[in-house]
Amino acid sequence: MRAILNFEHQCTLKCDWCYVPFVRDRPDFSVTQRVLARLLEHGITEITIGGGDPTSYHEWRDLAASAKMAGLFVHLDTNGIGLRRSASVKDALRSYVDLLGLPIDGPDASIHGLVRGQPRHFDIVIDRMSWLGELGLDIKINTVVTKVNASTLLQTAELVRSLAPTIWSVYEYWPLSFGGTNREQWDDPAGSLTFALARLPRELGKTRVEINRRHVRRLTYPIVAHDGEVYIHSASDIDRFQPLGSIFDDGVLSRAFSSCTDEREEARSRYTRPNDVQEAL
Ligand code: SF4
Repeated sequence: MRAILNFEHQCTLKCDWCYVPFVRDRPDFSVTQRVLARLLEHGITEITIGGGDPTSYHEWRDLAASAKMAGLFVHLDTNGIGLRRSASVKDALRSYVDLLGLPIDGPDASIHGLVRGQPRHFDIVIDRMSWLGELGLDIKINTVVTKVNASTLLQTAELVRSLAPTIWSVYEYWPLSFGGTNREQWDDPAGSLTFALARLPRELGKTRVEINRRHVRRLTYPIVAHDGEVYIHSASDIDRFQPLGSIFDDGVLSRAFSSCTDEREEARSRYTRPNDVQEAL
């Protein structure tokens, strides 16, 4: 059972299509630790700590440590900007993170920069990839497919092949939240996103490819903000979130998980550690 724990105060990038609602106060990590405790009481087994960029806050390490020591599979999603090459960061990554997600949205700095609004970000991610690989971490590259980069997706695939992450997750643009107000710029009713996704291979060398269409991701996981507000995708409107209330109120998490199930093969295999597979054989 998986939950997403998002930091929704602000982000170090300003992606125009981003569906994270940045409407909350700066995180108080004593509260966020209590949010995690509520998720643990509810029996989650996997957590994605995402953003904004959680690594903007040095306390991400304590949060990841709590999750890991409680036995969770810890997936950290970051844009990489806050991930500094220090001994303490490396130690935390090695000790507490099972899977690390980083974004690459094009085969070069210029296409990636069009999607992320920041051309220099491409080199930051490539730099992070170079030293993260030495830690032996499982890396997941995330690519959002939009009208702007769909035609270059096969070239991006060749870059991903050369970087050889464990997983390449390719996400169809989803006009949710504030990012949905710019839909005309990123979505393509004529079908270029669908066409680009259909041409992708399911494997690139040793890299497994996950193709995530928006209708398949709907109602697969609850999202919990750093202050404890819980929301899910709306059952009646695929392009909206449905707020459920505070994690500290009775029944809110139960309602969230009763609405969300993730039966996808990708979800099961993404959160299985190699050792678990061996033990099961
Ligand atoms: S898509 Fe990710 S990196 Fe971009 S603004 Fe949203 S949270 Fe930040």
